[in-house]
Amino acid sequence: MAKAKIAVVGAGLIGLSTAVCISESISGCSVTVIADQFTPNTTSDVAAGVLIPHLDPDTPVHQQKKWFRETFDYLSLICNSSEASEAGIHLISGWQIFKTIPDAKTPFWSDVVLGFRSMTAKELKKFPQHQFGQAFTTLKCDCPPYLLWLEKRLKENGGQVQARKIEDLWELHSDYDIIVNCSGIGSRKLVGDLEIHPIRGQVLKVHAPWVKHFIRDGDGLTYIYPGIHIVTLGGTRQKDDWNLSPDPSTSKNIFDRCCSLEPSLQRAQDIKVRVGLRPSRSAVRLQKEILFRGNEQLLVVHNYGHSGGGFSTHQGTAREATQLVKEYIGTLEMSRFKAKL
Ligand SMILES: Cc1cc2nc3c(=O)[nH]c(=O)nc-3n(C[C@H](O)[C@H](O)[C@H](O)COP(=O)(O)OP(=O)(O)OC[C@H]3O[C@@H](n4cnc5c(N)ncnc54)[C@H](O)[C@@H]3O)c2cc1C
Repeated sequence: MAKAKIAVVGAGLIGLSTAVCISESISGCSVTVIADQFTPNTTSDVAAGVLIPHLDPDTPVHQQKKWFRETFDYLSLICNSSEASEAGIHLISGWQIFKTIPDAKTPFWSDVVLGFRSMTAKELKKFPQHQFGQAFTTLKCDCPPYLLWLEKRLKENGGQVQARKIEDLWELHSDYDIIVNCSGIGSRKLVGDLEIHPIRGQVLKVHAPWVKHFIRDGDGLTYIYPGIHIVTLGGTRQKDDWNLSPDPSTSKNIFDRCCSLEPSLQRAQDIKVRVGLRPSRSAVRLQKEILFRGNEQLLVVHNYGHSGGGFSTHQGTAREATQLVKEYIGTLEMSRFKAKL
């Protein structure tokens, strides 16, 4: 049986992790990642990369928890291996703090992260304006290292990468059997999905190596996430805003908000501003779609729309997309077998 040829469109976190998962789970196929932007120029490079899920309104909670658990367990294995520093994966402990006590004191993901508990009164003294808090340890993926590591792993498995902008998925019809669409916010134009929209995020990347704990204000708008080399300070959530240029007054506002939680950041150095557009939908689009043109058909698997939570769920969704690719391969093998009879 001829090798199935698979094209993955997108070289952000979702495209690369899906391509690696396919190349490791389906023997005898070829995988090519095609994208117009690679690290360090993707949205995934702007993100803090912390594993704290957000809640998608239209995806069942048990599904979101499954994706989160699979991602957390997969990254824990990397974190506990000699690959950890090259892959940019590390544990971070810290606090999620609230000015008013939230309705749900225990989020759905509390038993997936490590050591989840309410903060003590002594811990809360650091945050005099906050009434309640949760302490836990989670994982963080630093980008670009994680994206570079995924790309290396893909190539070790025989996969390829190609820099190219795709205007229409049909361009790939003659060269590939199956197309996996991981184009994030690009899906609005590429597949005409008007449900996907940007939620603009501006962050500061600073040098402050003494900051070791994360701090996330309960609404998730203000956060301090230390990475291996830099600390990410956030942020903003600006719906339907496509502007990729940094706004200086927003930077000052982010810096002031973060300093009010962690005054030592006043001495932070080498401050860089980054902007990214979260690919937002009410639910991740993870499904098969067969496109038709005359007598021809194009087999597509969509895996995009991870909004502000791609790092928290990417391995879970990559596995599900891989399962959908396997189903197509089963159908392809059956039709090729029948054609030979
Ligand atoms: C400020 C900010 C902070 C964040 N923090 C976190 C966090 O702490 N934790 C978390 O879980 N998530 C976080 N996120 C969300 C996370 O970054 C996203 O969910 C994730 O990066 C989406 O990855 P992606 O691969 O779908 O998109 P992208 O990284 O945007 O990749 C899309 C890829 O598709 C390619 N592409 C698009 N259209 C085409 C085309 N027509 N032809 C060829 N190639 C195309 C692009 O070039 C690119 O390679 C944050 C996001 C932002 C903006």
